[in-house]
Amino acid sequence: MAATETPVVANEAAPATNGAPLGGRTVAADRRRLLAWYEPRRDAYPWRSRGPDPYVVLVSEVMLQQTQAPRVVPIFEAFLARFPHVRALAAAPVSDVIVAWAGLGYHRRAVALHRSARTIVEEHRGEVPRELGALRALPGVGPYTASAVASIAFGEPVAAVDTNVRRIAARYLLGREADEPPPGDVGRAADAWVPRVGSGDWNQALMDLGRDVCRPRPRCDACPFGACRFRAAGRRGGSSPRRQPPFEGSLREVRGRVLAALRAAPSTSEAALVADLAEPPERVAAAVAGLVDDGLATTDRDGRISLAS
Ligand code: SF4
Repeated sequence: MAATETPVVANEAAPATNGAPLGGRTVAADRRRLLAWYEPRRDAYPWRSRGPDPYVVLVSEVMLQQTQAPRVVPIFEAFLARFPHVRALAAAPVSDVIVAWAGLGYHRRAVALHRSARTIVEEHRGEVPRELGALRALPGVGPYTASAVASIAFGEPVAAVDTNVRRIAARYLLGREADEPPPGDVGRAADAWVPRVGSGDWNQALMDLGRDVCRPRPRCDACPFGACRFRAAGRRGGSSPRRQPPFEGSLREVRGRVLAALRAAPSTSEAALVADLAEPPERVAAAVAGLVDDGLATTDRDGRISLAS
């Protein structure tokens, strides 16, 4: 399909499928189906049941960037008990935030979130901004996270397009896999699909659908849409997402073990880390250098290493 053929879904009465071969369903009717499917899931996670507190939404979205929801739940709750509002997070030393992040991995997010909290206090009077541009300017906040916060916390009618949502939008709206249309088509179609009211629920419903139903190998029989352009075209999906390299034996694993050691002791030396972790000195040195570069650790003039303060 050429770029000019991208369907615009602003028209609620538009047929949901090319040529409406599936009983004349409309975009509006399918939207209601998805939201009804989502309804019992509304309170599935604590960040949803707490209501649209922008700080809570920001914390949860940063945690969910690279960590699955079930793993996030207990850490999220302890994190909010320790830092209940943005000023508490901004006032804390970054080492406390790194300690509270234990178990989530990808600790650069902790440093970025802490910097975001300080930016919000210093530049936005302690209020998470609602404008996409201001959200994008926060450390560690990319286009997806900015749109998720803007829609969930503030009801801004913007699409939060991650890998899962991109897959659904491409299939449902364009009848194709996400990597097949010209660049920009899927994002534009997803933007036009967002309802003017209830964008937060809409985006979260699509996120759930992409994670649980419209997976790389879609479970169309369990889909609240029942059918779509992709399915009507006889497509069955099945391409596997690119797998991450194994964590075990990686430098990421060594970084995680160094961080765990730094959480347990106020400071240590590279030699002690080599002995404790039973890792080659060059791997420990590389892990420590990476942690220092990422703002997670510091070294003093005697070479003692500690969590960044
Ligand atoms: S019908 Fe199948 S391919 Fe279409 S949106 Fe639902 S799960 Fe995805």
